[in-house]
Amino acid sequence: MRALQPVRGTQDLLPEVARRHRRVVETARSAAELYGFAEMATPIFEFTEVFARPIGEHSDIVAKEMYTFDDRGGEELTLRPENTAGVVRALISNGLTQSVPLKFFYSGPMFRYERPQKGRFRQFHQIGVELIGVAQPQADIEVITLGSRILDALGIGDRVELELNTLGDPESRADYRQALIAYFSARISELSEDSRRRLERNPLRIFDSKEAADQRVARDAPSFADYLSPESHNFFDQVRTGLDRLGIRHRVNHRLVRGLDYYTHTAFEFVTTDLGAQGTVLGGGRYDGLVELMGGPALPGVGWAAGIERLALLIAHPPLPPRPVALVPIGAAGEIAALKLAEDLRDHSLPVDLSYSGNLGRRLRRADRIGAFAAILLGDDELARGAATLRDLVTGTQSEVPLAELTTRLRMLAAERAAAS
Ligand code: ATP
Ligand code: MG
Repeated sequence: MRALQPVRGTQDLLPEVARRHRRVVETARSAAELYGFAEMATPIFEFTEVFARPIGEHSDIVAKEMYTFDDRGGEELTLRPENTAGVVRALISNGLTQSVPLKFFYSGPMFRYERPQKGRFRQFHQIGVELIGVAQPQADIEVITLGSRILDALGIGDRVELELNTLGDPESRADYRQALIAYFSARISELSEDSRRRLERNPLRIFDSKEAADQRVARDAPSFADYLSPESHNFFDQVRTGLDRLGIRHRVNHRLVRGLDYYTHTAFEFVTTDLGAQGTVLGGGRYDGLVELMGGPALPGVGWAAGIERLALLIAHPPLPPRPVALVPIGAAGEIAALKLAEDLRDHSLPVDLSYSGNLGRRLRRADRIGAFAAILLGDDELARGAATLRDLVTGTQSEVPLAELTTRLRMLAAERAAAS
């Protein structure tokens, strides 16, 4: 049998990386709670229609990146490529649309058939928030501020920049679309094949192209700023003023568009130059038409999602878990006593690593390798006296300790070691 490999674009999260992911998720979850966002989860697969129309039949995600399959009952299903559509589906199917405003936080795996590279995978993980039912710019300001707070709490606030754009209301967008079609049609020979397709369907998307030729042409394209309705202008100004008041620095980038069709008004990304080509760590925007498009009432919404892998690459080493106690039985009586003693210590919140086999030297080497701060040697003679040997693995000193005092002694030692490190 050939050696088993993970599927291209997927990866195992070994403990060091898993710890980084957990740090990202826990930091985000605590910050989201400060803003009143409640955690929720939707299924990892949905009927394909949940994603296809909302994200846009001609978006890259729907056209080329979805993991779509028929299940054994003949249902057409898709592994979620993002979570906003799933959250909106959930709020409609659970009859929550009367209870707005609603604020949700989520985290979990997403799936896109993309070309794997640093910071880009086929199974990746996102954290995200959705604020549904608020049409005012305060909502945009709050979700952006929450994103900014999370990046600060992760210690990477000064390594990212916030870029901001408005995609206007549907009327402004229709006018701008016409202007773009006229502009890009005149220079169609310079566009990539993908962008020629985009020109027919959604010319705005050409700005999202990663091809150098497309980007060259896009540089001189008409600016959305010239096509915005006064209302759209005003909305954007309010968002910007609100961010200014909170001291959240941002840069307007009129070329910023998002890869999904459902955005209106505010679009934003926090980007870094520290990750090569995959510089966007967090992106989102307002999606006022989405709930209605999915069969619910006309409810506005705004939210964002951030890539956990990319954030995990940027953060400093997360703190290590507390160091354990190694429990080392020597002989038959020790083996019998060890499991029970380990439980007693865990009852007092002391992490315990039970050494299962091998001679004393081997067991102590393992205790060192896992970073144990102390070892308890359970010899038959000591046990007969109701005692065990406690060895401080940092100083190497050891002494016999009555079993009844073991917990207290270990907790004192653990506290000392924690203070010293
Ligand atoms: P990109 O321009 O990098 O393809 P996107 O616009 O497709 O990103 P969104 O759909 O807005 O990304 O998802 C939000 C965030 O999720 C991104 O900013 C990124 O951090 C992360 N992300 C998206 N796709 C991937 C992927 N294939 N692998 C890892 N992270 C991803
Ligand atoms: Mg993408």
